[in-house]
Amino acid sequence: MHLLLRDQALQKTSEHDVYAGPSARYCPAGVYEWVEEGSDPRFVINAQNCVHCKTCDIKDPNQNINWVTPEGGGGPNYVNM
Ligand code: SF4
Repeated sequence: MHLLLRDQALQKTSEHDVYAGPSARYCPAGVYEWVEEGSDPRFVINAQNCVHCKTCDIKDPNQNINWVTPEGGGGPNYVNM
C-alpha cells in the first residue's frame, strides 16, 4: 500500500463532513470513493488504480493522505520528472 491515511477518523470528520469529500473528484484515476452506507460512510482507497500523480498528497485539505513511492514495479515510474 503506497497511499497511507494518517488518521482514519479525521478523514470522516473533516474531509467528508466538512469538505464534502474532494478526494473523489480531484483524483484523476478514481482511487478514492466515499461509499455511503446509512449514517456511516466508508472511505475506500482503490490503490491499484493510482497513476502516481501525487495530487492527493498536495490537495487533501488536512494533509491526511500520504503518498509514498510505490515499492517494486507496477506501472510507470516518473520519479525524476
Ligand atoms: S497519486 Fe494521483 S492518482 Fe494516485 S491516488 Fe493520489 S490523486 Fe489519485
